[in-house]
Amino acid sequence: MISKKIHLLPEHLIDQIKAGEVIERPASIIKEVIENSLDAGATKIDIQIRDNGLELISIEDNGEGMSFEDLPYAFCRHATSKIERFEDIYSLFSFGFRGEALASMSSIARITCTSIPKGNPENGGKIVIHAGETVAHTPYQSSKHGTSLYIKDLFYNTPARLKFIKSKTSEKGSLKRILYAFILSNPEVTFSIKWDDKEKEIYKGQIDNEQKRVKDILFKKGTPESETSLLSISGEYEDYSIHGYTSVSSSRGNAGKSHYLFINGRLFTDRQIHQTMIRNMEKFWAAGETGHYFVMIKVPPSAVDVNVHPNKTQVKFFKPSVVFSLVSAATKKGIEDFKKQYQGSTNSLLSSLQSEQRNLFSDSEQREQSLRDFYQTPFKMALDLQNSDGADLYNHQSPFTVKTSASSSFIRLSSNFALIPKSETNQFFLVNIGKLIGSFIAYNLLNRPVTQESDTTPLLISEPYQVEKGTHEEKIHDLIQFGLEIDRLDDEVIALRTIPSYLNDLPIRETLSPLFDNLDLIKKAELDDLITFFKEKYSFSSNYDIENEINLILKKLPISYFLENKAMIHITNNLLERFFI
Ligand code: ADP
Ligand code: MG
Repeated sequence: MISKKIHLLPEHLIDQIKAGEVIERPASIIKEVIENSLDAGATKIDIQIRDNGLELISIEDNGEGMSFEDLPYAFCRHATSKIERFEDIYSLFSFGFRGEALASMSSIARITCTSIPKGNPENGGKIVIHAGETVAHTPYQSSKHGTSLYIKDLFYNTPARLKFIKSKTSEKGSLKRILYAFILSNPEVTFSIKWDDKEKEIYKGQIDNEQKRVKDILFKKGTPESETSLLSISGEYEDYSIHGYTSVSSSRGNAGKSHYLFINGRLFTDRQIHQTMIRNMEKFWAAGETGHYFVMIKVPPSAVDVNVHPNKTQVKFFKPSVVFSLVSAATKKGIEDFKKQYQGSTNSLLSSLQSEQRNLFSDSEQREQSLRDFYQTPFKMALDLQNSDGADLYNHQSPFTVKTSASSSFIRLSSNFALIPKSETNQFFLVNIGKLIGSFIAYNLLNRPVTQESDTTPLLISEPYQVEKGTHEEKIHDLIQFGLEIDRLDDEVIALRTIPSYLNDLPIRETLSPLFDNLDLIKKAELDDLITFFKEKYSFSSNYDIENEINLILKKLPISYFLENKAMIHITNNLLERFFI
């Protein structure tokens, strides 16, 4: 029988294979870098894109900037100045990737970044990174604060990259959609975009500029713009609200149409809301036709489950009927107002609006039902879980503090062992690193089942592994139920796309390669078999500097758990004395 071992790829091959999942990735990268600029408080963002992002993505902002010293940290794993986002995975405002967007990008592209911190123009820096290697890090000065990032030759050491790109037009489509969504939802920010050698598109930022911005984006293809080309909609119900614009004109098909739905500031798609818009716009849009729309919906964060996967943009409302009725009522009211303003009112519209509002506001039974639905959703369960015994355990305070500096009292003895002094006493813990990580994963497998997509985190750049043809097909496929979503790129290569969120703080390749290398030790990808593997057969053999990660793990579970699982041994003075008797 042939060996069915899965091997970790050599570095250069990994880089090449990463190109296999280039599809849609430039758009994800654009999203990450614009978010960073907005997070940095930028009011002006200049973007340049060449060859759909493969040749160049550049972004220049006038945000807070970074200092010479901080610059390298921005490109390190786990480096973030936005820690609170990690804790907040159920909230709408946590985005999908693992707080290491810049680190992922810099591992596969040629990156140059210059940055000038606000209020400290003397202390700017420039860093050049090629495929993860820092090529230069020098001081840099300019009178203007902000950050410029040039991402060149994504997947540059992959000559075969073009083979993997499905369709250039669809890539351009997703790039445009992401860009225009940011431009629409940030009307106070000035954006410019330069595509290849085309003229710059400029969108001047201004407070209370939303309507103009919507016109700029929705009608940019030379549609005659006038007072009467946009219909505005708005409505409120309890703590739900909606506002937006639709075009009055329509045409056949969806091609070239702008359909933008935002939920609490975030772009999403929803077929039912789309249909509701079309149905309600019948008075203006001829049968079988659609126009443009831009709709912002605000709901309490607890009333929506956001799919955190960046490439999938559906959300789940806990009271969908309220949302649909609100969209419907607001659109009808918009039509009514528009007609009043420009064409005089019609009675039939008014009465249909009234019946819609009756539906929405006075059906207490329907409201109670929605409430019942709400309490039965998996989302609610996920929140409850945080207060259950298991999760209390999870939040247990450890005696260790997370160290961020290099000055360390963590003593690495070998790839698998470390000593950690117990604070303020002369005692130590001897840590078996593999057992600690393995038992941490086993605990989570058992206590934090992956039941919805927010329990998993997508990887911006997938981790590739080489496998032999037909290897472990079923096991690989079945791992998805534990949050390990894996695609086959070809006969011999698999790509890990998502991880369960409890692995967020661990180095993925180092942590999971023992699993993929030893799949033959597991009979089936079932809970019991996996727990046995991680508790008994898992080992960590990398020299990766794991100190921070271990400290994070020790913050999440009580020491007693690791002592019971023989992942740590408590070394007291008494014990030491005994060695010398
Ligand atoms: P995250 O955004 O989740 O923190 P990133 O890898 O995207 O992770 O960025 C890492 C860090 O780099 C950010 O937390 C921020 O401190 C810094 N950073 C990134 N882009 C910018 C920018 N355009 N301006 C200022 N700081 C930035
Ligand atoms: Mg970011």
